[in-house]
Amino acid sequence: MKINETHIRKSKHSQTLLINQLSLERAQKGETVFKFGFGQSPFPVPCEIQQALADATHRKEYMSVQGHKPLREAIAKFHNALENKNMSAEQIIVGAGSKILLYCLLAAFERAEVVLPAPSWVSYAPQARLSGHTVSWIETNFADHWKLKPEQLDRFCSSRASPDIPLVLIFNYPSNPTGQTYSTLELQALATIMRNHNVVVIADEIYSLLSYEKSYSTLDEFYPQASIVTSGLSKWCGAGGWRLGFAHIPKGLGQQYFQAVLGVASETYSCAPAPIQIAATHAYENQKSAQVFLQKQTKLLHEISHFCAKRLQQAGVKVHQAQGGFYLFLDFERFMNKLNAKGINQGEHLTHALMRDKGVALLPGNAFGMPDKSLTARLAFVDFDGKTILDVPSPQMALSRVRQGITEISDWLKAL
Ligand code: PMP
Ligand code: GLU
Repeated sequence: MKINETHIRKSKHSQTLLINQLSLERAQKGETVFKFGFGQSPFPVPCEIQQALADATHRKEYMSVQGHKPLREAIAKFHNALENKNMSAEQIIVGAGSKILLYCLLAAFERAEVVLPAPSWVSYAPQARLSGHTVSWIETNFADHWKLKPEQLDRFCSSRASPDIPLVLIFNYPSNPTGQTYSTLELQALATIMRNHNVVVIADEIYSLLSYEKSYSTLDEFYPQASIVTSGLSKWCGAGGWRLGFAHIPKGLGQQYFQAVLGVASETYSCAPAPIQIAATHAYENQKSAQVFLQKQTKLLHEISHFCAKRLQQAGVKVHQAQGGFYLFLDFERFMNKLNAKGINQGEHLTHALMRDKGVALLPGNAFGMPDKSLTARLAFVDFDGKTILDVPSPQMALSRVRQGITEISDWLKAL
């Protein structure tokens, strides 16, 4: 019996996972592909953490829904020490990746309006819709470094049609897809507006430890009462496929909300896998090794992002240098006339053409909430072997694919 489409939810395959699958299929067929589409850490999980996982395979029990207590304690201690935070283990929920926790945080609201700066990460809007919430976008622009301005947020909050419905802002920095982050002054100014309008903020800090600058601020410093922080092992520890994330929910949001999030977690994923939680405890307890690993990664990511952004700027692409993470957000506006002449009028046409002509995989801006006609795309500069690059004194050789992929984009633009 075929299910009638009127009864089926409009849920599509997530664009990030789809581009990963397409790129791998292309590579398997022996076709050239520069894998700049999917944002996966290229660095290996450190050996001692892999060993901790191997030693924990006998842990077959279900753990508590909230998460293994020693892990929650280690996470709080780690982020308090490294990022000057004020987290407590009691307020942390551990999940099978921060992505499912983002969903639980949203689904725990009976009603909410979710507001997102455009561009924002691909899964926020679909998750909000799956939870039955309305989604509003605040468009940012290249000149503002794709950052949300306090006056934009203020204007949006002041003109809401139903101000009684809780407003949830998902605020991600360093940003996927733009690589940009917020200064102390910018966060302070935004916090004032958030406080004035009682905004509940989900501060997605999955890339915070990959900030290129040694010292940086986080929003919960200025807006502790309603900043929920999410993060996890995926990015800083190179362990995306291990699926381990956490959410820290401030006490001020109340026990009822905390219990509702736990309730959704208990009805969906039950608990994060036990051996992974044990290995993650090891990762978070070893601050010293983590700091050495982070230093190496951020130095390399900074250099690579700098190289890519500079070469693309020279080719005429509008792009800002990244400040953390592994993404650049490219704006091809200057090529609009030439692209239009070739029938390329949308971001998706552009990424299809680059894949077809040069085997370069990018994700179009509209995957991140940009208008279809926006000639923007995200580049994840991670097509390199992170294991080799960590060990060699000069990483140039290990970066040949990144260099070649960037050259292909430049050549394609030149030939337009
Ligand atoms: N937020 C952002 C901005 C991301 O890029 C990702 C992708 N890994 C996630 C959340 C989800 O991360 P994970 O579920 O692996 O913790
Ligand atoms: N964060 C990765 C990206 O944006 C993908 C991981 C995922 O979608 O779960 O490419």
